[in-house]
Amino acid sequence: MARKQSESIVLRSFEIGEQDKIIVFFAKDVGIFKGVAKGARKFGNRFGSSLEPMSHVNVFYYEKENRELVTVSNCDLIESFFDTQNDLDTSFTLSYFAELIEEFFPPRSKDDTLFRLLLSTLQSLKAGADLDFTSAYFEAWFLKLSGILPDFKRCKKCREAISSVSWLSHNKDGVFCDRCVPQGKDEISPEINVLLGWMRKNPPPKDKEQPFESEHVAAIREVMQRILVFHMERKPKSLSLLHKRSVTKNE
Ligand SMILES: [Zn+2]
Repeated sequence: MARKQSESIVLRSFEIGEQDKIIVFFAKDVGIFKGVAKGARKFGNRFGSSLEPMSHVNVFYYEKENRELVTVSNCDLIESFFDTQNDLDTSFTLSYFAELIEEFFPPRSKDDTLFRLLLSTLQSLKAGADLDFTSAYFEAWFLKLSGILPDFKRCKKCREAISSVSWLSHNKDGVFCDRCVPQGKDEISPEINVLLGWMRKNPPPKDKEQPFESEHVAAIREVMQRILVFHMERKPKSLSLLHKRSVTKNE
């Protein structure tokens, strides 16, 4: 059995048996895969902190044919994002991103762009970028890479360019102008196109400064989350936790 190696980000892990852990990796070259790390819960084990959620690692493993689980032999830490998750909102947000990736991308489907998006998002947050804006950046690109980002610039029905307010239909299948909008609808602010245009051209910010008003960012995130929840047919658990926290904070 040949030993393989993949540059990966740890999405999550869970305990199994007395001393082991199962790790969900998101690898640059093979996408999502699961591996068992034997003895990973023993004190002073050989994995150190490399298996913590969101660690950027080089994982070495053995794979048997027709087995879903690989056996992790070693894991070298390339970059840790452990301290970045000291902040609870950041920690929940990163679980939310991991949940989205696992939900929308089947195991063993390679997506190099999504890998780079997650890594640059982690590096931005570590560098102190604004959490809400960086999250909006991730969500916008995630929708695009999943193929569910609607065209916010043209009405889905009449194909005319949308100049002011547009509407997202309640079944989230498209964006409509004032004339064509079906019964159930949510308003979309015109800023969304400015924001999406900016994101297409720029990498995620590395500092607290961001070019948009925070209320616009919040409004746009709400639209994007509605589309994500609609496609998942449920609200991500970590997103519910985040929303509960922001309600408590604003009370
Ligand atoms: Zn129209």
